[in-house]
Amino acid sequence: MKKVLKSPEPDELTKYKQRYTSQLRKWGKHASKKSDLKSAIQSTLVSDQKGICAYCETRIREKFCSVEHFIPCEQSTRERNYDLDWQNMLAVCKLPGAIEDENVDNSQLPHKYPCCGKAKDNFVPDGRLLNPLELPVSRLFRFKREDGEILPDKANCEKEGIPVASVQFTIQTLGLNVERLKTLRLAVIREIDEELDFYDDGIIDPTVIEKQVASEYFDNGKENYPRFFTTIRWALSKGAEDHLLDISYSG
Ligand SMILES: [Zn+2]
Repeated sequence: MKKVLKSPEPDELTKYKQRYTSQLRKWGKHASKKSDLKSAIQSTLVSDQKGICAYCETRIREKFCSVEHFIPCEQSTRERNYDLDWQNMLAVCKLPGAIEDENVDNSQLPHKYPCCGKAKDNFVPDGRLLNPLELPVSRLFRFKREDGEILPDKANCEKEGIPVASVQFTIQTLGLNVERLKTLRLAVIREIDEELDFYDDGIIDPTVIEKQVASEYFDNGKENYPRFFTTIRWALSKGAEDHLLDISYSG
């Protein structure tokens, strides 16, 4: 999970809300069925999130993503409509896009590897679940080099005043340590290690090499980010932070 910056609410959504101002419009019943509205929402979310799932950081595309409501739609009332609240919407992975690197024809995969919307299972945030919109710019997660497991980065959490228990709770609630994600992240960690080895001649400062590789992966930050952005950021250590500072990374 990385920080998400949101652009302003799409015009299509503003107009839809204005048109139905006196009634409580339901996402599932009305909004999600209007294809121009849904597609404007999906494309803005995917572009804001630079093409990665707000929770697990796998690749998402406009056609292969779900609109996730951080506070579930069931919590909406006549006074407070979470269904159409732009700040409550995130794009998360959806099969088969989320398993693009595996055999998408294997009908067992959706059952074996539920995607993020399913993993969260309409959990009502109670302060412990981290919201990608409210994360600090710095990295709250680290990874186990041996198997790709995601863990809280205790030192960074402390620096940012975020309880380690909340980070742990978020990992658990969103199912971020299912075998599928661990395996994919492990492959990314190994790929980065190979890249670092390739440039390492025993003379160049390792941070300079990390920064060079980070610039290849993250570029100028204007285009989509590679999937597992946070894993790559962790694997490239200080070089990644130096590069992100250079490109004024803010989410
Ligand atoms: Zn996901």
